[in-house]
Amino acid sequence: MSAPRWKVSLHGGHSQEYCDHAYSPLQEMLEAAVRAGYHTFGVTEHAPRVEARFLYPNEVALGWDVSTLVTRFDEYARRLPALVTAFADRIHLLRGFEIEVVPAASYVQLMEEYRTRYRFEYIVGSVHYVDEISIDGELQEFERAMEACGGLEALAVRYYQTVAQMVLALKPEVVAHLDLIRLHGHRFGAVDTPAIRRAAEETLEAIRATGGILEVNTAGYRKGLGEPYPASWLVQIANRMGIGFCFGDDSHRVEHVGFGIEQARQYLLANGVRSVTVLAREGTDLVRQTVPLED
Ligand SMILES: [Zn+2]
Ligand SMILES: [Zn+2]
Repeated sequence: MSAPRWKVSLHGGHSQEYCDHAYSPLQEMLEAAVRAGYHTFGVTEHAPRVEARFLYPNEVALGWDVSTLVTRFDEYARRLPALVTAFADRIHLLRGFEIEVVPAASYVQLMEEYRTRYRFEYIVGSVHYVDEISIDGELQEFERAMEACGGLEALAVRYYQTVAQMVLALKPEVVAHLDLIRLHGHRFGAVDTPAIRRAAEETLEAIRATGGILEVNTAGYRKGLGEPYPASWLVQIANRMGIGFCFGDDSHRVEHVGFGIEQARQYLLANGVRSVTVLAREGTDLVRQTVPLED
């Protein structure tokens, strides 16, 4: 294994067997990670949404229900250890999952249960819902979320507050796509007003306090946002605060695996970031390591 030490993705590897909006089998995703030249690849499938009202239209169309999601996630978690072993001479695979913040009243306990039950090595903290309304799915849902909050600025503030609460409650090792609110938000106005910036800075404070690694998520490139998540201003503030960064390709098909990582490396360097924080297996634990971005 001669992959550069910085070439690590800690969020991705969503696969067809376990995710309705992923398009390649897990085995092929992992082979693609080897081909992409990753040193370490974190596999982080979505946690189940355990109430029927949170099913995606596509899942309903496929005939999936909550028990489908729960069963598939269980199969995913149980299959990972064998894959780590099978790929051990080619790539370091890490076993994780991407959390959900729904149902709002019980997600913290649920996600903790998944982490413990399946002995996941780490979790990716993501917020895809504000007050149980999806903010990264259908545009109509996003408009409903804005209406419920009283406009884009109020929604964005509420979004960052939700991320901060999640971070303090679950202490995720990795915090994903920090400014996901940009995905649909940019169509409706500024997502970096002073009030939004203040809320985002409080969220960064929560990430620093809990030792989370901030993911630079390359899906921003393939979704036409021009920049990865998070935007430059957030990267620069986080960097000044001493928060560590990692990469995530958020891959949902083999073509996504490794996509935009070199560009994201240049992006970090251009924003004054000289190293990334990676997770490495030491015995049965994961430890954080800081590795330079220039090899
Ligand atoms: Zn997904
Ligand atoms: Zn996500």
